[in-house]
Amino acid sequence: MIKVCKKCLYPYYHPLNLIFDEQGVCSGCVVHQEKNILDWKSRENKLKKILKDYKSNYGNNYDCIVPVSGARDSYFIIHLVKNIYKMNPLLVCYNKQYNTAVGIRNLANLRIKFDCDIFNLTVDPITIKNITRSTLRRFGSLYWHCIAGETVFPVQIAVKLKIPLIIWGVHQGIDQVGMFSHLDEVEMTRKYRKEHDLMGYEAEDLIDDFDHLKEKDLHHFFYPENSHLEQVGVRGIYLNNYLRWDTKKQHEEMIKLYGYETAKQTRTFDYYNDIDSWVYNEIHDYVKFIKYGYSKVLDHACREIRFDRITRREGIELVKNHMFIKPKFLNKFLSWLNITKNSFDYILDEHRNEYIWTRNKSWNWIQKENLILSIEETLTKKDEIKENIKSFYFIQTGKKFSQDDKNKYILIGKGV
Ligand SMILES: [Zn+2]
Repeated sequence: MIKVCKKCLYPYYHPLNLIFDEQGVCSGCVVHQEKNILDWKSRENKLKKILKDYKSNYGNNYDCIVPVSGARDSYFIIHLVKNIYKMNPLLVCYNKQYNTAVGIRNLANLRIKFDCDIFNLTVDPITIKNITRSTLRRFGSLYWHCIAGETVFPVQIAVKLKIPLIIWGVHQGIDQVGMFSHLDEVEMTRKYRKEHDLMGYEAEDLIDDFDHLKEKDLHHFFYPENSHLEQVGVRGIYLNNYLRWDTKKQHEEMIKLYGYETAKQTRTFDYYNDIDSWVYNEIHDYVKFIKYGYSKVLDHACREIRFDRITRREGIELVKNHMFIKPKFLNKFLSWLNITKNSFDYILDEHRNEYIWTRNKSWNWIQKENLILSIEETLTKKDEIKENIKSFYFIQTGKKFSQDDKNKYILIGKGV
């Protein structure tokens, strides 16, 4: 049986590394407990002090940079920074190019409602396809360019425009796996980005004639030199170190306040995060399943269990209902990348984790040890009981996949 956390559903082989204590509880659950015991008022005051230090006194420059997209906490972060803390942020947005109609609409509405300046970067699409072919073949990732772009474009703009403070939302290493305590107040680093966000590959590592990728094609993804960062004093802080982070609750507030749109998902029950890219929620997530034997819905279930909004039993049922669903929009991605389904499957098989997968007699892939059964083995009576738990659901604001069923991604769209 696979070792699984007694409080959530995570197996020991989480790619961001989990540590288990003597009671069999994972580090993610241990650090989550801090959300219930820390003095968040005094932590917020700490944040206010940092922001005050960066407030531009002359009115001729921005106070900070906020990276945004058409989803994932963007509204909440700007709401706090601009409307609650009264800072003047410059918004920056890396175009992931796999855009959905709902993501485009959310981004358009964000520009109108928050009245901020915004910088967009759309790298030429041929280069993006070359990068994606390379990262898919080399390390089984079709999302490297999105993560690399999102994490470096704000830093490049910080250096260029001499705006030292970048404000991020949640640090996944803290929130998912408890790699650090909230009290460590970790900030953005080049090292964490390379090792965890980029799976160990910097843009420089992708320069290769075979993939038609030269240095000039990748410059948008190069992290600025340390000396340039130091000259400006660039730092990136994470709001979840200072505020009790609860993405579900926050998104629901944004739906009410600003009309944030949500969308039904195929492979998870979370209708709020990452709805700007079906590639992320579907194909990238399917690849995650092939590599690690579990997918995003397990992350979401663990998060909701930790907040006591669902039981472990309910969590595992949600996982069973979503994890094995085949991606609905795979053909769109394959035609975008111009590769066949066979080539795609062949490449993915090369990246299957051999500790998790094996072929059966009919040459089909099966998990060596069944994760679902392993989790179910650990369920006790208290995992079934629902005490003071309110009805659990994610709001779907209306529009479904309709506009996304067209054959192409929206590269640039005005959103209305
Ligand atoms: Zn846990």
